[in-house]
Parts: sequence; C-alpha cells; structure tokens
Amino acid sequence: GFNCGIVGLPNVGKSTLFNALTKAGIGAENFPFCTIEPNAGVVAMPDPRLNKLAEIVKPERTIATTMEFVDIAGLVAGASKGEGLGNQFLANIRETDAIAHVVRCFEDENVVHVANHVNPEADIEVINTELALADLDTVEKAIKRVIRVANSGDKDAKAQLAVLQKLEPHLNEAKPVRMLKLEPEDMAQIKELCLLTVKPTMYIANVDEEGFENNPYLDRVKAIAEAENAVVVPICNKLEAEIAELEDEEKAEFLADLGMEEPGLDRVIRAGYELLGLQTYFTAGVKEVRAWTMPIGATAPDAAGVIHTDFKKGFIRAEVVGYDDFVHYNGEQGAKEAGKWRLEGKDYIVKDGDVVHFRFNV
Ligand code: GDP
Repeated sequence: GFNCGIVGLPNVGKSTLFNALTKAGIGAENFPFCTIEPNAGVVAMPDPRLNKLAEIVKPERTIATTMEFVDIAGLVAGASKGEGLGNQFLANIRETDAIAHVVRCFEDENVVHVANHVNPEADIEVINTELALADLDTVEKAIKRVIRVANSGDKDAKAQLAVLQKLEPHLNEAKPVRMLKLEPEDMAQIKELCLLTVKPTMYIANVDEEGFENNPYLDRVKAIAEAENAVVVPICNKLEAEIAELEDEEKAEFLADLGMEEPGLDRVIRAGYELLGLQTYFTAGVKEVRAWTMPIGATAPDAAGVIHTDFKKGFIRAEVVGYDDFVHYNGEQGAKEAGKWRLEGKDYIVKDGDVVHFRFNV
C-alpha cells in the first residue's frame, strides 16, 4: 500500500486530523496479519463508484482500496541537527510516499502558537528548512562519495555528480528539490538517496469553520504551494473530528446541515491519492466487488500484479468493461450483449474505473 506522512509544527491540528482519520478509518483488528504502528491509520478510499457496482452485482462483500496515514509528530527547529527527536522524525518521513503538511490558518487565543502568532509563511519555512537541511546533508555526503569516482573518469559517476551539484546550491537556499521539476533521468540518479523534499507534498490548511473564504492565511498558503509545485487542501480539522465521532445517519444529517456533500477528510484522502499519481480499477464478482489501487499508466499485467504476483507472472489476457458501460448496461452480461466487453492483451493501459477480470496461467 501507499502512505502519507502528516507533518507540521506543534499545535497546528495534526493530532486532531489524525484522530479524525483513524476514527473514520478501518480498525487495526481488520489487519490481523500486518503490524500497524500506533501512529498509523488506514482509511478507505471514498469512491461512490464502488457502491454503485455493488448495487448491480450484489456481492457477498465489498472491499474498498485503502491509503495509510502516519502521524509524524515532533518536528522542531533544529531537527536536522538532531535537536529533539529530530533524527527519528526525519527517518520516519523518509519512509513515506507523500507528505501532508498541516499549516495553522485559524486564530484561537486558547490555542498557543509556538511562535506566538499565526503566520503560515514562517511556519512552512521552519519545516521546509529542516527538511531541506537534512537533504543538503545527504547530498553533500553523496558528493564526497561520488566525486573521487567521477574524477577517475567513470561516466555514471560523472552524470550523478552533475545532478548532485545542481541540487546543492538549491538546498543551500533551503528550497525543496521538487521545485526543480527534475527530468526522469535526473530523478533516477538521486532515487537511492531517498530525499525528503522530492516527495509529493500537499499543504493541509487548517482553517476555522468560517475560514474557507476570505481568509488571508489560506491565500498565503495557496501562493506558497503554487510556487513550489504543491497542492492545498483547506479543511477544518476541529469540525472533522466532530464529524468522525458521529454514527452514519447522524453524520449525513450533520453534513447536510452544514451544506457539505462529504466529510472534508474525503478530500484529504483523495488528494493524497492524486498526489501519488494513483488510480482505481475494480474487480466485480458475486463473491466480492473490490477496488484496487494502481499507478496511472499501469499496463494490464502490472495492474494484475497488484492483486497477486502470480496474476502478473501468468498473465494471459484481461476481460475489460469500462465503468460507465458496466453501469449503463447493468453489469457484465448486459455490457457483453451491447458489445462493450473487450479482451485486452499485455500492452493494454488500464483506465481509471475499468472493471477487469484477469485470465492467467498458474
Ligand atoms: P498538534 O500539536 O499539531 O497535533 O495539534 P492538535 O491537533 O493537538 O491541536 C492543538 C489544539 O488546537 C487543540 O486544542 C485543538 O483542539 C485545536 N484545534 C485543532 N484544529 C482546530 C481548528 O480548526 N480550529 C480551532 N479553533 N482549534 C483547533
């Protein structure tokens, strides 16, 4: 599975968000064979298409695809120099696929701000500086390692050194590497370094209930995100925590009262998914209707491999019905009769929403 680390300064609303996500999430008891760390929560990808397919197929069970969120508490200025739990914190971020950076965009005199007043730019800068300094350290060490080999004329080492030397001055200015929009071949050169500031990032602007519009703090976060190639999700974490406490029926009523179509958490989960370039395909049998996560652009065998490596190894063909056709013709049989059922080979690029049945050799 894929995961997203939640970071941010103290008192910005990280735990509130994380608790709401865990409450809304799938309990650890559903994953008896995996270890789920206490600071991790697994949430179902909200996808109305899954329910629609289940209505048509009426399976024994319906299973959503999931995403993991990890609460990475404890970042303070100086973390990259080992202050506080700095090193542990950075190691935890290194293991995540994407970063959700919570930024305080609400005023509340009862909630202490670590720097005494709400200031999104300054807050973002503290965190980004720590991450950039940690990357700078990694890059400088790598340069030292590679430079000797490069000087001896090694072509690969020279190419890698060129990329590292492009990153160094940028990181020295405490700017995230993702701003450089590196070409895939350059990215390949630095992949093994697991840099923190190349990870796809979203800013979670934690606003007050009334703070979704005409909120200068939010506008400032949006401006920063735009400049550095990141995404913004405005949300009121306090409200989300209340919503997450409710039973389904109450929840629907509460959301309707607020004029909301879905909990804001769903937007966070979906944004994480998009950030990672992920899409969904479905399998729809009478036993189980299920959503699966694949990277955008995955071929049929790669998508099959998400279910089981044997499905990929023994891949023969994929039987495919597009989601809209599946719904429009009320299931596989109807789609077949309408000529909307296709057999696809190993080069087929699976599309978002495809309903797929894999044929494979065992
Ligand atoms: P963390 O240190 O980043 O994990 O922050 P917490 O989630 O513990 O939140 C710190 C305080 O801010 C708590 O008292 C929360 O109830 C409060 N808080 C969190 N989100 C909001 C919000 O959207 N509005 C207001 N007014 N308070 C919030």
